[in-house]
Amino acid sequence: MKAEGVRLITEEGLRHDGRRPEDLRPIKMQVGVLSNADGSAIVEYGKTKVIAAVYGPREPPQKFMLLPDRAVLRVRYHMAPFSTSDRKNPAPSRREIELSKVIREALEPVLLLEYFPRTAIDVFIEVLQADGGTRTTGVTAASLALADAGIPMKALVAGVAVGKVNGVLVLDIDEVEDSMGEADMPVAGAPDLGLITLLQLNGVLSEDEFKRALDMAWRAIERIVEMEKEVLRGKYGLAPAQEQGGVEG
Ligand code: ADP
Repeated sequence: MKAEGVRLITEEGLRHDGRRPEDLRPIKMQVGVLSNADGSAIVEYGKTKVIAAVYGPREPPQKFMLLPDRAVLRVRYHMAPFSTSDRKNPAPSRREIELSKVIREALEPVLLLEYFPRTAIDVFIEVLQADGGTRTTGVTAASLALADAGIPMKALVAGVAVGKVNGVLVLDIDEVEDSMGEADMPVAGAPDLGLITLLQLNGVLSEDEFKRALDMAWRAIERIVEMEKEVLRGKYGLAPAQEQGGVEG
């Protein structure tokens, strides 16, 4: 359903949850949340809650898929059956298969996979609660989990989606804004490399809106990567953080 006739921006310019257009939802991050994984992280953007687990580099039983010159990165994005208000079919959907590929491509450019030939690195992204932006929250959680697993990386990656509702560009859209808005543009990247690794657009934006939306996303990604660094410093003792292994912003 689109927002024609549905007001998602008040007279005062506020969004349905009280945020201003350029506001992120409250973000929480924690690393090292699963003892059985080599690295893990849980990330919340508002009500969207995603856990990521990393295993490897390891030699999987399926040797045929290994590469002689680098590690293979395998990513599985999955929404838990209890993550939505209607029970979601647990079998992998076409959307989940596509998002697994999109997230893998968002992570691959920052990983030094050539350090681990003939191995596999597995990233499991499980959406625990979905309220819009699960792919971008998933990229942020995976980046933290990969760092927590000690996988050598050129830079950290984060993601956020910008949308357009009632003609207004809004940062970090939730499910209501996504389903009723005019456009949804998920972006991910590594600010320390000046690299965009994920850029999708569902809907229509003018050239000027596109540039403004990208700028809005990029500035938010810079802030989210700083939060990632803070949570990693908190766990690994490189500098003081708000809380051992976790930050809120
Ligand atoms: P993203 O989660 O990255 O924004 P989509 O734009 O495909 O990806 O989905 C937007 C939102 O719609 C999701 O975050 C979730 O809240 C909801 N959603 C997606 N797929 C389903 C599903 N199969 N059942 C119920 N809700 C869903």
